[in-house]
Amino acid sequence: MVAHARPDLKAGWLQGGEAARGGRGADAAGPGLMGRRLYLPRMTDCGAEALAAALRSVGIDAMVLPPSDSRTLELGARHLAGEECLPAKVTLGDFLRVVETPGFDPGKTAFMMATTEGPCRFGQYVPYLRKVFRDLGYPEIMVVSPSSGDGYRQVGASGPDFTRTAWRGFVASDILRKLLLRTRPYERAPGAADAAYALSLRELCATLESPRLTHRERLEALVAALIRIRDRFRGLPAGYERGRLLIGIQGEIFCRMNDFSNDHLIRRLEACGGEAWLSDISEWVWYCNNHQEHCLRRDGRRFSLAMLRAKIRDRIQHADELALRASFVEDFRGYEDPADIEEVLRAGDAYLPQAGAAGEMVMSAGKVDYFFRKGVDGIIDISPFSCMNGIVSEALYPRQSQEHAGIPIKNFYFDGKGGDLTDDLEIFLELARAYQRRKPHPRRHPSCFP
Ligand code: SF4
Repeated sequence: MVAHARPDLKAGWLQGGEAARGGRGADAAGPGLMGRRLYLPRMTDCGAEALAAALRSVGIDAMVLPPSDSRTLELGARHLAGEECLPAKVTLGDFLRVVETPGFDPGKTAFMMATTEGPCRFGQYVPYLRKVFRDLGYPEIMVVSPSSGDGYRQVGASGPDFTRTAWRGFVASDILRKLLLRTRPYERAPGAADAAYALSLRELCATLESPRLTHRERLEALVAALIRIRDRFRGLPAGYERGRLLIGIQGEIFCRMNDFSNDHLIRRLEACGGEAWLSDISEWVWYCNNHQEHCLRRDGRRFSLAMLRAKIRDRIQHADELALRASFVEDFRGYEDPADIEEVLRAGDAYLPQAGAAGEMVMSAGKVDYFFRKGVDGIIDISPFSCMNGIVSEALYPRQSQEHAGIPIKNFYFDGKGGDLTDDLEIFLELARAYQRRKPHPRRHPSCFP
């Protein structure tokens, strides 16, 4: 059975139990980050911007890397052997674009890169990055992986405040992305939904980064901002029509969230007549939390301080999520995320037991059943070429499809080389159209649909 990266560490910096502390905003950056600009990979436009805003709220000079381009791949490839996964090439290439900027100062630069343990190559990213910077003669560049393991030393004394604001930022940015994806395919004025999204993201980040707010004040400000954003999207002229193909999107988290890496698959899908329901970031955090508790129980630590912290964190995160999503019940009718991640994991257990595997592949196994019951017309798995998540999932999908009324499921792999996906998408959507006519679970629609 395949083992995979320890996801508790992949999102470790969101897993500090002290987030309960009702502190009042920022002090200053941790000693290591003082005087440095911290650059964040653009894993998702809105999630990364929200995370940078959360860091700024605690006094860290954080910004998201500019969108990737062909130079990204050129620089990434120059320092890799060619066997690494695409996220390695994209993140390294983007970091090196900063390094080659005129006036670049290694002593005033830091790059954020999450890390993990286990056989997945992701665990090698941070040591490899450090090696590349050393080889280039820049050992002073900091590579930051904030985690509960080091008490958020790199984030400074405000680590717990940061983690709570970051969590809220992820939930809010998931909401914003969902609004975009459920509106854009139906917009009457091309570009209107993207413009509303860009404006809303700036508004969201301004709220997230305000310093010296209590947790309560920040939550109230975020809820108010989200209601304004909701109303902005509701006001966009749109021709909602039943029958457009709804496609669930899952797979490796970086590649599915990063438009550049997946060659803008969602826009292409929309252009071919589809609508995407993208598995979001908070779902991954719920999975990581669940996995952490699973590991504590497995290690005989059911009644431990660590378990208590995990439970408290869970309650706080749930309460925050509930408050932020409360105003969207009608807008997201038919697009509800799982109320409890256990529901997804249990469904996937028959195909890929959690006891022997971990990571996106476990979520993907369970999401097939979830998407199926929500009435999607097909499922696309996005993964980097040679990613173990995609490979394992692809082996499971034929049986899953067979046992779920023949729902079409297709893997799309990406290696950064480009290529036209339109033919493949159109063929897949033909299958989805045939399935739509006979699917056993109808899709529910919000009231804006006729
Ligand atoms: S692309 Fe797949 S194998 Fe590579 S780091 Fe990501 S999850 Fe691991």
